[in-house]
Amino acid sequence: MAPSPLIYAVANQKGGVGKTTTSVNLAASLAAAEKRTLLVDCDPQGNASSGVGVRRPNIERSLYDVLIGRSTLRESVISTSVPRLDVVPATQDLVAAEIELVDAPDRATKLRDALRPHVAGYEYVILDCPPSLGLLTLNALVAADRVLVPLQCEYYALEGLTYLMATIDRVKAAFNPDLGVEGIVLTMYDGRTSLTHQVADEVKGHFKVFDSIIPRNVKLSEAPSHGKPVLLYDASSKGAQGYLSLAREILDVNRPKGKAARPRP
Ligand code: ADP
Ligand code: MG
Repeated sequence: MAPSPLIYAVANQKGGVGKTTTSVNLAASLAAAEKRTLLVDCDPQGNASSGVGVRRPNIERSLYDVLIGRSTLRESVISTSVPRLDVVPATQDLVAAEIELVDAPDRATKLRDALRPHVAGYEYVILDCPPSLGLLTLNALVAADRVLVPLQCEYYALEGLTYLMATIDRVKAAFNPDLGVEGIVLTMYDGRTSLTHQVADEVKGHFKVFDSIIPRNVKLSEAPSHGKPVLLYDASSKGAQGYLSLAREILDVNRPKGKAARPRP
């Protein structure tokens, strides 16, 4: 039997901090590193889906159908133009899932239960969460092995973080004891401002922060309108290099002990 994949939830209840950009480009970078990767769009806005070129007319079954039990996860998987990268897309329908599932006794474990039987062929699964701590994010946290938290270095960033960590602790206690926060990813980083440095230092004082930092880079914001991860849009851009570096860091963490990566020249 193929080993089960590592499942990462990319979560932060704040909107516009780079969750979707991180999900899409980390998933594409892992796929570029020869890892079979599944991106699951858990946000009704569907930006992760369109970010890998999957739009409404081509979506027959979405995560909504999976969560309400109308289709299996496998039936909703679509392959992308990135080799080894597949996506389970989301559409606006997904808003209804939050309401329709509210009385279901297994409402928090729907995604986990849907993923488990169908993800054995993948090495990584990336769950792009919506900007709230509602039922969809809860499902992602219950289904995940690790949480990755994109964070923009701005004044109120830390307040939201404390609340997110408390939520993760509650999910650990109630559903998923092995859930761990793998780290904070600093996104849209602009090293020219002193506020950025202050916030980054403070975050590093409290939480694990990835060494790879994602700079503010216009290529990252342009690529989605072409339906492509930045690697297929401008592979030499600072944004693409940032996410490749993040993927390498994650691969290093998960490498079996004793097989250290050879230092890169
Ligand atoms: P979230 O999913 O957390 O709401 P997004 O990933 O959609 O956030 O990012 C919000 C906006 O910022 C998008 O328009 C996106 O293209 C842009 N963006 C994200 N990361 C970067 C970056 N590193 N540099 C420039 N623009 C970025
Ligand atoms: Mg998003």
